[in-house]
Amino acid sequence: MAETKLAVCPHDCPDTCGWLVQVDGGRVVSVKGDPDHPFTRGFLCAKAGHYPSRVHSPQRLTKPLLREGAKGSGRFKEITWQRALDVLQRRLEEAAGRFGPESILPYFYAGHMGLVHRNAGSAFFHKLGASRLLPTICSSTATAGHALSLGSGPSTDVESAAHADLIIIWGSNTLTTNLHAWPFFQEARQRGGRIVVIDPYRNRTAQRADLHIMLRPGSDAALALGLMQVLVDEGRLDRRFIKRHTLGFDEFLPRLADYTPERAQKITGVPAAQIRALARDYAQAKAPFIRSGYGPARQLKGGMAMRTVALLPALVGAFHKKGAGIHRSTTSSTVFDLKRLTRPDLAPPGVRAVNMVQLGDALAGRLQGPPVKLLHVYLCNPAVVAPDSALVQAGLAREDLFVSVQEMFLTETARLADLVLPSASCLEMTDLYAGYGHYYVQMSRPAIPAVGQSRPLLSVFQELAGRLGFSEEVFSAGEEAIIRWLLDSGSPHLGGITFPDLAAGRPLRVKAPANPYQEGFATPSGKVEFYSQAMAEMGLDPLPDGAPSLDPDGLGRYRLQLITPPRREFLNSSFNEVPELVDKAGPATLLMHPKDAEARGIVEGDLVRVFNDRGQCLLVAQVAAEVLPGVCVAEGLYWGVHTPGGQGINHLTSQRLADVGGSNAFHCNLVEAEPVPEAA
Ligand code: SF4
Repeated sequence: MAETKLAVCPHDCPDTCGWLVQVDGGRVVSVKGDPDHPFTRGFLCAKAGHYPSRVHSPQRLTKPLLREGAKGSGRFKEITWQRALDVLQRRLEEAAGRFGPESILPYFYAGHMGLVHRNAGSAFFHKLGASRLLPTICSSTATAGHALSLGSGPSTDVESAAHADLIIIWGSNTLTTNLHAWPFFQEARQRGGRIVVIDPYRNRTAQRADLHIMLRPGSDAALALGLMQVLVDEGRLDRRFIKRHTLGFDEFLPRLADYTPERAQKITGVPAAQIRALARDYAQAKAPFIRSGYGPARQLKGGMAMRTVALLPALVGAFHKKGAGIHRSTTSSTVFDLKRLTRPDLAPPGVRAVNMVQLGDALAGRLQGPPVKLLHVYLCNPAVVAPDSALVQAGLAREDLFVSVQEMFLTETARLADLVLPSASCLEMTDLYAGYGHYYVQMSRPAIPAVGQSRPLLSVFQELAGRLGFSEEVFSAGEEAIIRWLLDSGSPHLGGITFPDLAAGRPLRVKAPANPYQEGFATPSGKVEFYSQAMAEMGLDPLPDGAPSLDPDGLGRYRLQLITPPRREFLNSSFNEVPELVDKAGPATLLMHPKDAEARGIVEGDLVRVFNDRGQCLLVAQVAAEVLPGVCVAEGLYWGVHTPGGQGINHLTSQRLADVGGSNAFHCNLVEAEPVPEAA
């Protein structure tokens, strides 16, 4: 008989939805949004409804695989777990013995966001003395930039935006990547509020907004400074707030004087009149709310952009008004103590750190210290996701590199592996989830038995640890014991949540105020920092600055700036394994302005070759004035096998890092495009 079980979406999405999973005879029949979850409110995105076919897909990996053909040929033979772990143990010992433990590199990210299994390998690799991976690829620049102005920790609750009268969605395609925030924004609209979207292209959210401000990618700081200049010039300031709660405002004013709306227009492409009008609306709003997305951070000066946007509310004192403020991330997971699980103390002092963005360089032998001889990948698909794909894929294909992958599907990374270990899905394991777009935490237990011989990550790392003689308690504790440790954090924001509370499986709200900034700012000065000593100490400009930055490799030779935002049907590279979603997504496209298309002889629907020094990919042209001239957009992220030329968009992106936080500048790259002759 069918029964309904509670579960949590494990994907890297701020919404961390509560699911109702219908199970019949050990099989998942349907996945729906939990109507009792205060943020999910009973509906899901276009992806999650496909979970039954994803979990029970005929493509699902159900047995360990050992490569038997050439690397990348996709030829494997099925082996037992015993044999698979024998092979991996031997390879780990060999690499550590011959080249030193730093020749082993774990590579993981956010393919599963549950706190137990996402962090399940950390203690193992620390104890092994392996190179330490810096998990930077997505959010670290956005987080660091925002923190430079306002301090780290939680930000304004999205739910409070229902009381805003002006909502600025800055660099986030909310309807695609943060869908469950939208009802709160709509609630504000029904009360008379307006929604403004600031984004380089007319994405799905911009189409539904009251106003779309289209700017050049990488010019967000200049636009924020243009807005601030109007506020100062017209005296629309909360001087009391500035005096009491900010640092360095007077030093900032001479710099700001340079950013008239006319100068900001030159940098951003946004008309000066539109900048003036938005600044006035922002000042006049009783409760202006900013949703600060990731887009502005994916630039060489991404930290500066995030920091500058974050300063806007300080000028009008918006931090202290109901419904006002700025939302970046809620970081609910910080209420838990992860150290007893991840055990950073087990790592040898001074062990080598490798930025995950620069995997291509790492595999090409461009690191100090021993070459990488064993790469163990889990919760990640670097062959598609990491920048400079040609270099990454060449590295993965090295004959002298042993690659092991824990996965649910034969991704493009797994195809290049020597050993593939089948992973259990979120519906087959116990875990604890903490949203980063809301303040709810929730524990989930298995809804079905593990499919085939797939295994949860924790059990695999614990068995390997046992084989290597590691005896610390973290290598034998079960999921529930670990969740109890996580709760033992002493954080006042935990709000008294206990294990039995969590074990009931319902979402629970951690203790966070709607507007944490009312309690002060977690910066070194305790104030909003217009002047940042921390930036000065990093050798960076301590004051906000709006100078744009572009891929230096392509300057003067490639004339289109490429951005690669998410597509509705995929989440990073996940869901490319669901045929219905690949079909629904349609072909991989390149959106470009009609003037750029005409100059290159490209018309709507043409197959175009998009290229730069790093590589090329083939995309279908979409020609519309939904982007500024000189800018092009490739929504993704498609696996290479789903594109006409077999090469994904990251063949065009560089490994360059943003100014702070170590993330990749995914949106700074310059490319060219040309039609592919029909016979090609
Ligand atoms: S991907 Fe996001 S919106 Fe979709 S179900 Fe998961 S958490 Fe919800």
